[in-house]
Amino acid sequence: MGSSAFGQLRTSLAEYLAEIWSSTKQGDDRAVAVLARKALPRLVEALNAVLDEHSPDADGRCASCRSRRFGRTPRPCRAYLSAHLCLLPAADEPEPVPVAPQPRRSVVVAEPARRSVLRTPS
Ligand SMILES: [Zn+2]
Repeated sequence: MGSSAFGQLRTSLAEYLAEIWSSTKQGDDRAVAVLARKALPRLVEALNAVLDEHSPDADGRCASCRSRRFGRTPRPCRAYLSAHLCLLPAADEPEPVPVAPQPRRSVVVAEPARRSVLRTPS
């Protein structure tokens, strides 16, 4: 990816997203819930920041997506199209299977250790 400042930025962002992806796929439900509470607001904010850079018109054409100076503006806006395809399920996509809540385990508290009485020689 390169050692430039942008390369480091790209690498750290890719690592952050890979970590979230991996933790979400492999973590237990509690860990995923904790991660989601922490990461989702940031991800939504990041996506909104990206989408704010794009202003498609009523036909979906976006000047920010223009690839060449005199090229046609693509339609629909690539940022909105990508976000839509990634976030909104397709009509034929199966619904996720709900995860049954796990029964709570009772907590066993250890008995306090008995103090041993040290006898000092008198
Ligand atoms: Zn755009």
